[in-house]
Amino acid sequence: MSRYSLRARVNTFYAGMLALALIVFSIAVYLGVRAFLTRSLERSLSNSAESIVSDYLVPLDRKGDSWFLAEMNESYPPGSSDPFVRVTQGNRIRYQSGDMRDPYVNMSELALPSNPSWFHSIHRETTANGQRLMIYTLPYRALNGSIFFVETGTTIEPIRHVLRSLTEILLVTTPVILILATFGGYFLMSQPLKPVVTLTEQAERVGRERLGERLPVIQTGDELERLSLSLNRMIDRLEEALAHNHRFSADASHELRTPLTIIRGELESLIQMPSLPLPVVDGIGSALEECNRMAKIVHSLMTISRLDGGGEQMEMIPVDLVELVKATLEHMVLLAEEKQISLRFEYGKAVVVSGDPMRIKQVVVNLVDNAIKYTPNSGEVKVTVTSHEKKALLWVADTGIGIPITALPFVFDRFYRSDLARSRESGGTGLGLAIVKAICSAHGGSASVESVEGRGASFRIELPLLAPDVTVTDQARTFASTSSLYQTVGPRDSDKDSLTKI
Ligand code: ADP
Repeated sequence: MSRYSLRARVNTFYAGMLALALIVFSIAVYLGVRAFLTRSLERSLSNSAESIVSDYLVPLDRKGDSWFLAEMNESYPPGSSDPFVRVTQGNRIRYQSGDMRDPYVNMSELALPSNPSWFHSIHRETTANGQRLMIYTLPYRALNGSIFFVETGTTIEPIRHVLRSLTEILLVTTPVILILATFGGYFLMSQPLKPVVTLTEQAERVGRERLGERLPVIQTGDELERLSLSLNRMIDRLEEALAHNHRFSADASHELRTPLTIIRGELESLIQMPSLPLPVVDGIGSALEECNRMAKIVHSLMTISRLDGGGEQMEMIPVDLVELVKATLEHMVLLAEEKQISLRFEYGKAVVVSGDPMRIKQVVVNLVDNAIKYTPNSGEVKVTVTSHEKKALLWVADTGIGIPITALPFVFDRFYRSDLARSRESGGTGLGLAIVKAICSAHGGSASVESVEGRGASFRIELPLLAPDVTVTDQARTFASTSSLYQTVGPRDSDKDSLTKI
């Protein structure tokens, strides 16, 4: 999902609305200008016709034809073209101005006024050369009863010319305004959206790192402020629910420990009673086995709950991961040898982290125990410790059964066991990797896995590095100095207790 998608969507909506408004505005301007020009032209034609009647036809009887012609010639000379004027009496033309020149219109083409619907109004005509004319016809009855028709007309070419120019201007300016406004709007919107981006980034961190943090409250007094407050309240509720969950698991496992110890004690003393029938011994034996398994689960659950809930007191001291892994593997080599699995350790110079050595050791034990457990005889398990930038890295890779791609997202979940693991009756509880993850998180690190089914799995642990970065040359040496430790070093008995997978 794009970070700007809201911005883009709002901007697209805004650009669409603006485009619509500009189109409506352009059409309105075009129609308005056309109506205004047409009405002005009509008014000027009717005014001219009325002034011809009042100035020249009304006094015609008194002043005579020659006065009329002289006056008309002077006001509307035969050579003049705009507006053209024609005065007819019956079918006789009493006066006609010259042909129109630009554009040329031959006035003698025009039919004499005969249609009564033309009287006192404008009608339009198209000449043989395609010129469109507007003509106003004004009938006049003289005192002696003669009927005159005064026609004033003009071409509508000037109006069309103005409208063409206006269309060109609108066609150029509308897209330019639209583009400028869209880009301007896009950049202007980044400011009001900034708090949303900050909120999103912070929300991402709250989920990923820890729930203890809260979102910054955007004090704008609007929906954004309400949103940040609501999200913070939601995180409060989530944190409370999680804490409740952790408390419940911790309390339940704690409460189960005592009865389990008592049951185990009772069973152990029962099994030692003399002359018990064999089936009873078998029954007690298997009950003891299940009891031990249950005690292990309860212990693991309690560990996870404490680590997740922050209730676990960890002894944080500088730990050299190389030395710790080396010592741990020395004790696990027997496990590998039982299955003729080659256990290799690759390391370079010291990789120092701040942590609880017993807990980090547990991570190594759980991962290596799994690697051996899920690798068939004569396979290979390789453990690598190195550092990169500010991280200490621990890899445990094997050539075993691998993890199906559908199971990969769940392997660190509590009680999760893939079908491949179940079918092999490995006796696991599905809590080992959950503990690994909880320990890594408690140390500010992370655990991840890559695997191809049937080709082995590779677990990667990242912990914050305490010592300064190793250089590139050091890293090169790390991988060059592979050591096969276990041909020469054997296990020490003193550490055996801490080497059990939980
Ligand atoms: P379990 O006690 O069942 O081993 P874990 O939490 O240690 O529980 O592991 C969870 C599941 O992850 C296992 O049941 C198994 O399906 C899978 N798994 C863990 N490590 C490996 C490995 N090295 N190779 C293949 N599958 C593994």
